[in-house]
Amino acid sequence: MNKQKRRAIIAGNWKMNKTPAEAKELLNAVTPLVKDADCEVIACVPFVDLSVALEATAGTNVKIGAENCHWAESGAFTGEISAKMLKAMGIEYVIIGHSERRQYFGETDVTVNKRVRAALDAGLTVILCVGELKEEREQGITAELVALQTKVALGGVSAEELKRIVIAYEPVWAIGTGLTATADQADEVCGIIRNVLADLYGAEAAEATTIQYGGSMNDGNADELLSKEHVDGGLIGGASLVAEKFAAIVKAASK
Ligand code: PEP
Repeated sequence: MNKQKRRAIIAGNWKMNKTPAEAKELLNAVTPLVKDADCEVIACVPFVDLSVALEATAGTNVKIGAENCHWAESGAFTGEISAKMLKAMGIEYVIIGHSERRQYFGETDVTVNKRVRAALDAGLTVILCVGELKEEREQGITAELVALQTKVALGGVSAEELKRIVIAYEPVWAIGTGLTATADQADEVCGIIRNVLADLYGAEAAEATTIQYGGSMNDGNADELLSKEHVDGGLIGGASLVAEKFAAIVKAASK
């Protein structure tokens, strides 16, 4: 299998943006623009927007995801949302291990692994984020670091379950900064992740896994990034909040 045979996935990560009314408005603008997409299109939205997002995208090709979930099914975890709750309301995708969760909310590789496990057990598909800090790239440890993050996050995940894992390579220095990894840098690290998957699950499973790039991807640089062999799509932050920009990225992935 090669890139042409893997399903490209463009996923928006809205972060902590949009009230339910604003979410409806944005999705009503996005859905007609991406209706002919030849790739999977996902909008990952704040918990409070999930219901309205499901309604606004019903009968369209846009799928809805959450931005996080807790590892327990239920219990005394004030303020948290379980994977089971997401699944019960019709959500299919969840982002796990985003660098903002790691940076601001104490997320570690071990808690990422627990959340991945819970999401898979609930029947969700996971968009698993990995990526190095600027200092780590400068130290020359990007490959080791990203490999370790990937391995720990996938601990206890079977080859069959890997089919419900999408990996997003997101260099932390490129997220929300306007700095983008070059297409070659993105391709190199996505390739390293694919090699890790090959070691863990075999070449065929690795070749079948969608690996996205994320980090200031926009309508101007998407074409070049997405043309690379190991870059199968994008996780889009800022540009996913503007319907035309997001749709242009979806178009680039549909070529
Ligand atoms: C993200 O939030 O995952 C992201 C990649 O953000 P941005 O596109 O704004 O860099």
